[in-house]
Amino acid sequence: MNSPKYIFVTGGVTSSLGKGIISASLANLLQARGYTVTIQKFDPYINVDPGTLNPYEHGECYVTEDGAETDLDLGHYERFLNVPTSQANNVTTGRIYQHVIEKEREGAYLGKTVQVIPHITDEIKRRMKLLGDSGKFEIIITELGGTVGDIESLPYIEAVRQLNWEMKPEDCIVLHLTLLPYLNTTKELKTKPTQHSVKMLLESGVQPDILICRAEHPISKEAKNKIALFCNVTPNAVIEALDMATIYDVPMAMLKERLDKTVLSKLKMSSKNEPNMDSWLNFLTKHKNPKHEVKIGLVGKYVELPDAYKSITEAFIHAGAQNECRVKLEYIHSELITDDDAPFKLKHLDGILVAPGFGDRGIEGKIAAIKYARENKIPFFGICLGMQCAVIEFARNVLGFKDAHSTEMNAKTKHPVIDMMADQKKISAKGGTMRLGSYVCEVTKDSKAYKAYEKTKITERHRHRFEFNNLYLKDFEKGGMFVTGVNPDTKLAEIVEIKDHPYFVGVQFHPEYKSTVLNPHPLFVKFVKAAMAFSNS
Ligand code: GLN
Repeated sequence: MNSPKYIFVTGGVTSSLGKGIISASLANLLQARGYTVTIQKFDPYINVDPGTLNPYEHGECYVTEDGAETDLDLGHYERFLNVPTSQANNVTTGRIYQHVIEKEREGAYLGKTVQVIPHITDEIKRRMKLLGDSGKFEIIITELGGTVGDIESLPYIEAVRQLNWEMKPEDCIVLHLTLLPYLNTTKELKTKPTQHSVKMLLESGVQPDILICRAEHPISKEAKNKIALFCNVTPNAVIEALDMATIYDVPMAMLKERLDKTVLSKLKMSSKNEPNMDSWLNFLTKHKNPKHEVKIGLVGKYVELPDAYKSITEAFIHAGAQNECRVKLEYIHSELITDDDAPFKLKHLDGILVAPGFGDRGIEGKIAAIKYARENKIPFFGICLGMQCAVIEFARNVLGFKDAHSTEMNAKTKHPVIDMMADQKKISAKGGTMRLGSYVCEVTKDSKAYKAYEKTKITERHRHRFEFNNLYLKDFEKGGMFVTGVNPDTKLAEIVEIKDHPYFVGVQFHPEYKSTVLNPHPLFVKFVKAAMAFSNS
């Protein structure tokens, strides 16, 4: 294979312009032309990974097959590309420094002063090239977190400058994403902030090759030419990125702007094969023309920030399209639900999902919501902590173990129906120590899960410390809740179901991480279907 091509994506003017979506959309178009592409994200914060971050800080923590706790943008990469990412796809400043400091302690730099340049920048460069060196990809897209001008981004920009200098011009290009603010008084898009942010990049020695300009209104040809002239790029390299109805429209918008063609011509790669976007368009058509509608309540404690449940929200979009159904998600704060008011807060819903989470806050509300769903035969889907709460609710209200709990919330309960996994008990460090990543699960044939997966051997991703306590297995079975998915090696319960219910499924793993546009997750698809049946009943 020829040497891989590198595309770096930086952001200017403001944060939150959607570098992740732009990177994923470009990758999608290049992949649809037959190229092998991967995307990686470099985050300039000092946490070694986002696993220890509260979801309020950076939204959801995404988990890869190999058990890396990563930035939520990796979720977008997988959803757009339908190809798994890995630990190597997300690097933070913390990880870079940790590696350099460990090497220093081992004596690898003996005699030398260890410095940001060259030691930190060399380590950044090594990691930037790691996936390229694997020989598996023709194109590596690297998204740099943060905004140009941030102090903490400087070593990354310097690493990009050096790589740009080291590689042939056609092997390495820089895309810069900026904003053209619209002034209502003069009714025009302003280009000055873009010029300034490009100037800032230039001060660090990096000349962007392509500018992607977010704007609320179409950018005139004159404005594009002006930006091209003052920012030193070719006129076809000024790309308009308007606000879209859905993130899944962005690849089509970029195709219209010929972003993929411009990128390929700068990389001196063939653009003969037009991208095949048939399946993508098929999804978009279904997503935009639903024949049905259901209301699903997402019960969680981070509902003020929907990004905390990003993968779940997106999984509903994929599953909704598959069912030609609009899923109206209603975020419901678990702290605000009680047994008494559950009927008022939940009775209009066609399905209830209880979300993953950690700690005591909001637990009783989750349990109250599950009781209501179980008793009123409303389709229910519990994910991780949501499944654990379903087990607790069943133990308390059906089996009569009134104080049943998880030892995460009540270490002294007489009925620890959810307990810490044996190998977790000796661990005290918090970062990267949960049961993480992909594990095999065997699914019982006579189950709703089997109807969804249509196979007995599945793999799903995990992120938890507590588990179903198998000492209570017989009690649950007698009461009517069954374990229908088990890890064949450890016997950990992975799926629980209530038979006498139209759809009551709890899973210890996180199915949402594996749902993609082209491969909607079967459990979400069936849950939406059950909600559709409920709404028609
Ligand atoms: N707090 C629970 C555990 O650690 C559930 C985790 C989750 O929902 N991801 O087991």
